[in-house]
Amino acid sequence: MIQTEAISLKEYNTFGIDVKALYSFFCKNEYELKEILKTDFTKKKKVFVLGGGSNVLFTKDTDDILILMQNKGIEIVREDDTNVFIKVAAGEVWDDFVDFCVKNNYGGAENLSLIPGTAGASPVQNIGAYGVEVKDIIFEVEAAEIKSGKKKIFKNRDCKFAYRNSIFKNELKNQYIILNVTYKLSKFPELKLFYGNLREELPSGKNIEIKDVRDAVIRIREDKLPKTENLPNAGSFFKNPVVSQDFFRNLTKKNPELVSFPAEKGKVKLAAGQLIDICGWKGKKENGVGVHDKQALVIVNYGNADGKTVLKFSEKIQKSVFEKFGVKIEREVLVYPDDVI
Ligand code: FAD
Ligand code: NAP
Repeated sequence: MIQTEAISLKEYNTFGIDVKALYSFFCKNEYELKEILKTDFTKKKKVFVLGGGSNVLFTKDTDDILILMQNKGIEIVREDDTNVFIKVAAGEVWDDFVDFCVKNNYGGAENLSLIPGTAGASPVQNIGAYGVEVKDIIFEVEAAEIKSGKKKIFKNRDCKFAYRNSIFKNELKNQYIILNVTYKLSKFPELKLFYGNLREELPSGKNIEIKDVRDAVIRIREDKLPKTENLPNAGSFFKNPVVSQDFFRNLTKKNPELVSFPAEKGKVKLAAGQLIDICGWKGKKENGVGVHDKQALVIVNYGNADGKTVLKFSEKIQKSVFEKFGVKIEREVLVYPDDVI
């Protein structure tokens, strides 16, 4: 079942990093996964799960077992007068699910249009865009424990969702394989249009529907973000930093131009892209790696850079932002394996 011939992961990660995986397994359904988790071989080795590879930076060849989730299925499992509950297999393309919802006028996912990757990865970093996070529509997550193969249901509150974070990125990192996610959508969509330039992109003089929101988000994203096929990248490389009110007050004495947004627990969220831009990185290239010229949060692999080169470049950016503003910007992209530095 496990492919023991080394494969290149270049086409399985959107950064286009050419590393090799010695043991890989393409999982098409739950039964296959159950069988694979039972084997002695799997029990002895480390397992890493991969969806669309759009949030990962591979830094070297690996002899861990790579499980690529490719199970499929979008099924309405329950509905009432106001909501519909849709169970989606982990290997489904996230945006195909959003498209399904919008076509059926089920509201809640439209602001998350065109985010790359799989449904199974959506809870891992609690994907978010344009004022919506996937936690707002997740009902429950069904996952298998890698060690025992046992299935477990995580209700929304069990997932400990936070800004670009969840239990699957922390306490339970690399311990569970998400099999299905059940989302709760609304039959009476409430539109969230307050974010960034979304409203300006919407048609005027007509009733806005969720299809208009999806189309607007797609237009903005297609205009601003580099296509991974031509310019390999993993979206925002860094998270937006969150600082205390006091820190922010001092910071803006010297840098009054900085934008800010209210964050959890009375703190302040800064825009990492703006900090990187002010430090002069936008559009800069070095050793085949660079910062996208329209979006300073996105690092692009312009040539055939390896993962370590990308990582070193990202650290230079972190260092310069810290030196200028005293702010640490954390990586959003997951580095694998994480013991590389
Ligand atoms: P992968 O990159 O394959 O994996 C990411 C992590 O999830 C890894 O830790 C992996 O082990 C784990 N994982 C994957 N599948 C499973 C599973 N079935 N069970 C358990 N663990 C699993 N993110 C946003 O939040 N908002 C955005 O607007 C956004 N825009 C992007 C734009 C571009 C151009 C790109 C390239 C990326 C963007 N991203 C964005 C980041 C990325 O798309 C999301 O993080 C996405 O959810 C990753 O999905 P994936 O299937 O590619 O996951
Ligand atoms: P933008 O609209 O230019 O805004 C810049 C930053 O300001 C964003 O990081 C966003 O924070 C924040 N922001 C804007 N309006 C806000 C509001 N009303 N309230 C709170 N925060 C606000 O951002 P962009 O780069 O074009 O991206 C648009 C959306 O897509 C953002 O939500 C962004 O997170 C998402 N996106 C994510 C990725 C990724 O890989 N993670 C890649 C591309 C786009 P937040 O980032 O916290 O939302």
